[in-house]
Amino acid sequence: MNTYGDNGNILMLKYVAEKLGARVTVDIVSLKDRFDPDTYDIAFFGGGQDYEQTIVSEDLPDKKEDIERFIHEDGVVLAICGGFQLLGQYYIEASGKRIEGLGIMGHYTLNQVNNRYIGDIKIHNEEFNETYYGFENHQGRTFLAEDEKPLGKVVYGNGNNKEDGCEGVHYKNVFGSYFHGPILSRNANLAYRLVSTALKNKYGKSTLMWKARPLLNNKEIMMNKNNLHYIALLLLILLIAGISLANMQSVTVNFLLVQFKLPLIILILLCVLLGAFVMTLVNFSKGFSLKKELKSTQKQLEEEKK
Ligand code: GLN
Repeated sequence: MNTYGDNGNILMLKYVAEKLGARVTVDIVSLKDRFDPDTYDIAFFGGGQDYEQTIVSEDLPDKKEDIERFIHEDGVVLAICGGFQLLGQYYIEASGKRIEGLGIMGHYTLNQVNNRYIGDIKIHNEEFNETYYGFENHQGRTFLAEDEKPLGKVVYGNGNNKEDGCEGVHYKNVFGSYFHGPILSRNANLAYRLVSTALKNKYGKSTLMWKARPLLNNKEIMMNKNNLHYIALLLLILLIAGISLANMQSVTVNFLLVQFKLPLIILILLCVLLGAFVMTLVNFSKGFSLKKELKSTQKQLEEEKK
């Protein structure tokens, strides 16, 4: 299933995996197709309307054994909304009709009368100390089983059921959520977690991918910060130009035994330019060392593959 752009999660998984040096192939497992648990490293189960969920739920019993083995052998699963609901016991759709889930996980989903939970949501996962942002759109109210943890505690928004402050699920390597739009493009930290867990399962080394994750995150954050620097610099120059126009004066500068007079505006501009130059140098060297570390991580991965 796929709704509200959920399939964008697959693009994000591919993007992150390729950044970390892995080659990715994607298959669609549709109605009547077999899901072979030995073929895949990550499984994605998107959301759907009640109508699609009814059709899919009729096909699921044939796939149950394989999906169950995949999950119990620590396969990585991302399940969104309708997919998250159908991994559990059952889902009561808006009309009150009961749709059977796979029953592999303990949660169940009730309906609500004439209402949906729609809007922005923010959650925090204490175990990983990570925050995830998203947009939820669901009528189902999901309740987790004792052996299931939430993906996060709700900071704002409704979450699974608006009662217990939980959003989504984390069980073994299954990550379920009500976030659409898609969850991974807004939460690169979760995308890295899924990909690195899958790579760890496949290639063994536990710490390797974690080394790369913050590097990539920082690099992306750094790019945003750079833009902010330029805006701040522009504003500063405009401010200085404004002040100096209103107040034309020059200052005497004593620098390394040389004494000279300068208009104040030129002196301030020189200082700002010097600051910007130093900042660029610092960022450049940071970017360079990040790139170097990323490359060496990719090399290590390739060596492991051999
Ligand atoms: N039909 C389900 C509900 O409304 C799931 C919706 C979805 O996947 N967006 O709760």
